[in-house]
Amino acid sequence: MISVQDGQNQILHQLAEATSPEVVAITRARDRVLAEDLPAPFDVPPADNSAVDGYAVASDDVPKTSTRELDVIAELVAGAVFAGTVGSGQAVRIMTGAPMPRGTDTVYPQEVVERRGDRLSVGTIAKGANVRKRGEDVRAGTIAVERGRVLRPQELGLITSLGHWQVLVHRRPRVALMSTGDEVVEPGTPRKPGQIYDANRFALRGSIEQSGGEVIDLGIVADVRDELRARLLEAAEVGDLVVTSGGVSVGTLDLVKDVLGEIGAIDFWQVAMQPGRPLAFGRIGAAHFFGLPGNPVASMLAYMLFVRPAIYKLAGRRRLFPAMAEATAVEAMSKKRGRREFKRGVVRWQNGRWEARTTGPQGSGILSSMAAGNCLIVLEEARGDVAVGETVLVELFE
Ligand code: AMP
Ligand code: MG
Repeated sequence: MISVQDGQNQILHQLAEATSPEVVAITRARDRVLAEDLPAPFDVPPADNSAVDGYAVASDDVPKTSTRELDVIAELVAGAVFAGTVGSGQAVRIMTGAPMPRGTDTVYPQEVVERRGDRLSVGTIAKGANVRKRGEDVRAGTIAVERGRVLRPQELGLITSLGHWQVLVHRRPRVALMSTGDEVVEPGTPRKPGQIYDANRFALRGSIEQSGGEVIDLGIVADVRDELRARLLEAAEVGDLVVTSGGVSVGTLDLVKDVLGEIGAIDFWQVAMQPGRPLAFGRIGAAHFFGLPGNPVASMLAYMLFVRPAIYKLAGRRRLFPAMAEATAVEAMSKKRGRREFKRGVVRWQNGRWEARTTGPQGSGILSSMAAGNCLIVLEEARGDVAVGETVLVELFE
């Protein structure tokens, strides 16, 4: 038996380098992983500018008390630059985003002044009010986005604010995926008694895509030695990772074990977790091999715990594990000490706190528990049964 964490460490230890970088247009870069540190070539914003529509003045002209009159000498729209210098007693009408005219450092919002013709009556205001400072967003030369960051919409905007229209990202890790089992048939085809439709390949496909991997779908392979061997060899040719489900539990045909022994190297693990104890991990040629359990919940969970961090590492990501949060159990939960248990749960903000309950029956074949849930409730090894009101860790589904 090995712990979840030892398994994760052993797997991550085997993965040396991230995939090679490639250039993509910024319009195709969402959810990709940046492969280089991105320094800002200039200050953003490039100049002090107005945060409001109003009047730019020198703070020396701001009255300490009462009001005073100023002359409006020009109008400045965003995108225009004021050529001259604003002198004492003068103001420039300025629009949001327009660079501050030379000689000014403070902006009156238009709502707080009174204008008659070219005369402006102003009251008191703090020095520097309503001015966005040059470089307050990003300073020239600093790293605006670090390598290993996943490019979310906000990073895309930040990058284009620096003038870049393409970025260097890691190639998506390629994951060759197949289901095993004589009983497993393709959805959309007739099903004979004793057969089940393939759930794992589609749940895993979605999971891999969600993690930023590229799926190479190798279909369903029967529990026939020569077929499995041929399909695995093919998979190792095309995938950085090879992922199968089924055929790794004790008492089944144990084909995966035999075949991997012939064409690669493999470890069989009993992981101290529930659901999803059996896991095979090894190599076929240059590809890393993951043999996930056949039960649908177990295969998804094993994916999240062991394959996803591997894909993340290959993809060059910095953060390999999802954020956890604390919630209050509003339902008693059974828990065996000595293993990590993952209940499918629903976490909700209620009664001024995050409350967690399970989705109901937790069998490893009950895939509807994953569909009903929005999180995993993670119960650590040392823990026993959970009583109502205790704090539990939750990991939100992506
Ligand atoms: P195995 O480890 O191959 O004995 O599979 C364990 C259980 O998972 C069995 O009940 C299988 O029928 C089921 N199973 C295996 N592969 C799939 C699949 N691709 N989709 C749905 N259930 C599966
Ligand atoms: Mg099977």
